[in-house]
Amino acid sequence: MARIPLIVGNWKMHMTLEETTRFCVSLKQGLAGDPRTSSLVKSGALELAVAPPFISLAASAEALRGSSICVTGQDVFWADTGAYTGEISSLMLRDAGCRFALAGHSERRQYFQETDEEVNRKAAALLRTGLSPIVCVGETLSERQGGAAFQVIEQQVRAGLKGLAMKSPQDLVIAYEPVWAIGTGQTATPEQAEEAQAFIRKLLEEMLPSFAPEMRILYGGSVKPDNISKLMAMPDVDGGLVGGASLDSGSFLEIARGACPRS
Ligand code: PEP
Repeated sequence: MARIPLIVGNWKMHMTLEETTRFCVSLKQGLAGDPRTSSLVKSGALELAVAPPFISLAASAEALRGSSICVTGQDVFWADTGAYTGEISSLMLRDAGCRFALAGHSERRQYFQETDEEVNRKAAALLRTGLSPIVCVGETLSERQGGAAFQVIEQQVRAGLKGLAMKSPQDLVIAYEPVWAIGTGQTATPEQAEEAQAFIRKLLEEMLPSFAPEMRILYGGSVKPDNISKLMAMPDVDGGLVGGASLDSGSFLEIARGACPRS
């Protein structure tokens, strides 16, 4: 089965509730005005998802109802319930209408000292609840310059996916996000993205041989309307995790268009 392109907009800590609703309404209208992209989304040949802050998840799910655009958590806690002040469980994400959630975004690793072990526990919690984790991996600039990029990626993939109970290749998505490309405007070249993502696919072939060919690997790091098509032309780039350029519904839609499978 071909891998269905997936574009996820990561809003990070942006947008109020009112702005969220406005964005979702405008995205829905924009999509409705683009019959080709809209029919691809409706038929499941292209998947679109937005990842607003936790408090806007339910409102965005409501505003996007009927559009086939999914809602995604930006993070999750690894326990299902309990005395964990300030945390949000996978059950709560599901309840709010989420289909996916990010685990191990580099900003969580950098500012909140999230470890590979925690990322693994978060991914396990999501799978337990029927949500698909989007496990983020990627090297920093100094790791790349020091020649350690592939070692870092391998460690994050192996530890992040360790022992996970997947039932199908669609259960989990990997996002390769070189940290030096996030929010910097310095996108990895399509060849750099492909080199890393083909490497990840090889690791998956070893770890999950029956699922690897059908698992999706997204690229993230300064994806824009003008670079998505070249990235998507790479054999192991199955979609994009988009930060800054996803905050405008028009630009997000243009990226979605650029990711449309060729007819
Ligand atoms: C991200 O948030 O994961 C990201 C890739 O951000 P940006 O597109 O702004 O680089």
